[in-house]
Amino acid sequence: MPARLGPSGPSRLVSPDWASIAAAVWCGRFPAVAPHEDVPGQILIITAHPDDVDFGAAGSVATWTEAGAHVTYCVVTDGDAGGFDPAVARREIAGIRRAEQTAAAAAVGVSDLIFLGYPDGRLEASLDLRRDLARVIRQVRPERVVCPSPERMWDRVFASHPDHLAAGEAAICAVYPDARNPFAFPELLQSGLEAHVVKDVWVMASPRAATYVDVTMTFPKKLAALRAHVSQETDRDGKLEERLLGWLTSNARLAGWPEGQLAESFFRLETG
Ligand SMILES: [Zn+2]
Repeated sequence: MPARLGPSGPSRLVSPDWASIAAAVWCGRFPAVAPHEDVPGQILIITAHPDDVDFGAAGSVATWTEAGAHVTYCVVTDGDAGGFDPAVARREIAGIRRAEQTAAAAAVGVSDLIFLGYPDGRLEASLDLRRDLARVIRQVRPERVVCPSPERMWDRVFASHPDHLAAGEAAICAVYPDARNPFAFPELLQSGLEAHVVKDVWVMASPRAATYVDVTMTFPKKLAALRAHVSQETDRDGKLEERLLGWLTSNARLAGWPEGQLAESFFRLETG
């Protein structure tokens, strides 16, 4: 049985059996799993759009906040190219989507949100974005950053929106080297923001995903978070729950867990 990052208690990995994990990985049955670790006190989640965190990580966020972690969301764009209703003026979309993301965050125990206000659909991993993310990292001072993948997933191309790739690239650059190098973007230090080292990065929608979080118990919170994005009509066909259960069950199968269990998956990168 591979180890898991579960919802029961502050230590997320439950009973790792390293001999059988090594054998399973050797046989190609299971991806590798992360080493044992506790939930950190401060976690920063960087996403390109409102709702990205809820598709990729809201079940995990709920387990972390239940374990006592303080989680901050940093949403780079306002998602102002999103939505389906042509009767809603485009200038109103940003405010609507910020309110929806705030409600979704509350469903998983998060009340600290930062919106950077970049335009949706035109995001680049620019030096300005790297500086802004380095500023947020130095302000929040998280042990863990969660971000989108800068690598495209060819088998799930809709998870690899160009804004996601750009936000992921800028986030990784902000973790290393920008936030930790006191001489990078010297205006940050001049404004009183000391350099900060992030210990690990968890990448969402990554082709290298090999770390699984047990979200079986927090699934209702993830579902509630996604349903808060009313303007995105996330449940317009009434099959959102069914779709989510399918994705999360297939993740749990990749982890080698028994039927009936649900998992979110990440690529975990040591950066500390
Ligand atoms: Zn998105």
